[in-house]
Amino acid sequence: MTTRFENGIVVTLGPNTRVIWNGSVVTEGEKIVAVGDAAEMKQRFPKAEAVDCAGKIVLPGFICAHHHFYSTMARGMAIPGEPASNFVEILERLWWKVDRALLDEDITLSAQIPLIECIRNGTTTVIDHHASPGMRDGSLDLIEDSVRQAGIRASLCYEVSDRNEMGGGIEENERFIRKIGKGDGQIAAMMGLHASFTLSDETLEKCAGIAKDAGVGCHVHVAEDLSDREDSLHKYGMPTVHRLDKMGASGLKSLFIHCVHVDEAEMDLIASTRTSVVHNPESNMNNAVGVTPLFDLLRRNILVGLGSDGMSSDMLSQMRCGYLLHRLANHDPRVAFLEMPKLLLENNAEICERQFGIRLGELAEGRPADLAIMDYQPPTVLSEANFLGHLIFGLVDATVDTTVCKGKILMQGKKILSMDEERIAARSREHAPQMWQRLQAL
Ligand SMILES: [Zn+2]
Repeated sequence: MTTRFENGIVVTLGPNTRVIWNGSVVTEGEKIVAVGDAAEMKQRFPKAEAVDCAGKIVLPGFICAHHHFYSTMARGMAIPGEPASNFVEILERLWWKVDRALLDEDITLSAQIPLIECIRNGTTTVIDHHASPGMRDGSLDLIEDSVRQAGIRASLCYEVSDRNEMGGGIEENERFIRKIGKGDGQIAAMMGLHASFTLSDETLEKCAGIAKDAGVGCHVHVAEDLSDREDSLHKYGMPTVHRLDKMGASGLKSLFIHCVHVDEAEMDLIASTRTSVVHNPESNMNNAVGVTPLFDLLRRNILVGLGSDGMSSDMLSQMRCGYLLHRLANHDPRVAFLEMPKLLLENNAEICERQFGIRLGELAEGRPADLAIMDYQPPTVLSEANFLGHLIFGLVDATVDTTVCKGKILMQGKKILSMDEERIAARSREHAPQMWQRLQAL
C-alpha cells in the first residue's frame, strides 16, 4: 500500500536536512519511497492514499534510548516508611519493591500503558530495560507481544542482578537473545545488567561472555550515583567503567546508562572502546544524583544518546530538560542548544543502527517509514537555519496528531488505532491496588 502524507511542513533531518513547505512523504509498505514537493509527489504517485497534513509538521519518529516500561504502576503510589533520602534508598524502598511485586498481567499492562504514551508522543523506537523478579521467566515475551501489538520498535533486555539471587535473570536474557537472533528490525535484544554495585565479577563475566558470543551489547546503569563509583573503588580497587570494561561489558553495541560520576580516565576508556552513553537528564534531576559531564563526553567523540529512564515517553520534553539543566549547571547560556537536539535526533538514530541494523531518524527514500506528525503553525519563518529554535521553544509543546511506524498508522487525529487505550487504562487501574498491596508486604 502506498500513502502520501502531504501538505505539511516536512523536516527531513539526517545529514542533509531539508525543510519542505507543502511537502509530502510517500511511503510504501514499511519504507519511505519519496520525499518532496506535495504537487510533484501527487503527480508521481496519483493512486496513493492521501493523508492531509496541512497545519502540521512531519518529522521522523522519535527514539528513546533508555526506558523502563515496568515503572508504570508506581505512578501515584504511596511509598511506605520515611521518604528516601538518597539514591540507594530510592532503589531499596521503591524500585526494588515495584519490580518484585509485578506478576504476569501487571507486566503486560505496565508495558501497554507507556507504549500508548510512546505513540501519543510520536516515539516510535524504544530501548527498554526490564525487571520483574517475581515473574521473571517469559517476561520479555509478554513485553514483546505488547510492543508488536502497539506497532512500534523496541530493543528489550532483562536486568540481571545478584541482589535477589546470584545471577538472577541470566537465563531469561540468554533465552530471549537466542530467540530474537539478528532481529526483524522491529524487536532487538540486548544483555541487560543492573549496575556494577549489585553484580559480582562472576555474574558480570558470564553475562558479558554470553553477549559477546551472541553479538549483542550490554545495557547497564553506570555510575548513576556516587555510591556506584565508591562501591567499585572500595571492593575492586578501580572505578566503575574500568571494572565493567575488565569484565568485558564495554564495546560498540553496549550502552552505558547515565555515567554521572565518571573521571577523565573512565571517559577515555569509554571513548577508546567505542561504547555509547545514554544521558537521562530528567531522571538524574528527579533522583538528585548529579549532572552527567555531557560536554566532556562529547569532546571525546563518545556517542551520547538521550533516554527518559522511565520518567516519560515524551522525548522532546527530555531534550528540553537537558537543554535547561546544562545551561544552569554550567552557568552558561551559550551551551546545549546544538548538543541536546543532536543527542535526540542524530545520536539516538546511530545507537539504534547498532542495535537494529537499520537507519532511523531521517525522512529519505529507502529509510523506514516512521513518522511523528505534529500540530504546528510556525509563528515565524521556519527553515533549515532556524529549525532548532522552533524545536526547543515551539515543537516541545506541540501535540502529536499522527504517528506512523513501519508504514502503519498507529494514531491518527490523536486516536490510537493499534490499541484500546480506555480498556487498557481501566484494566491497569483494576490491577494496581493488588500490586500495591503485594508491594506493602515486601
Ligand atoms: Zn534506568
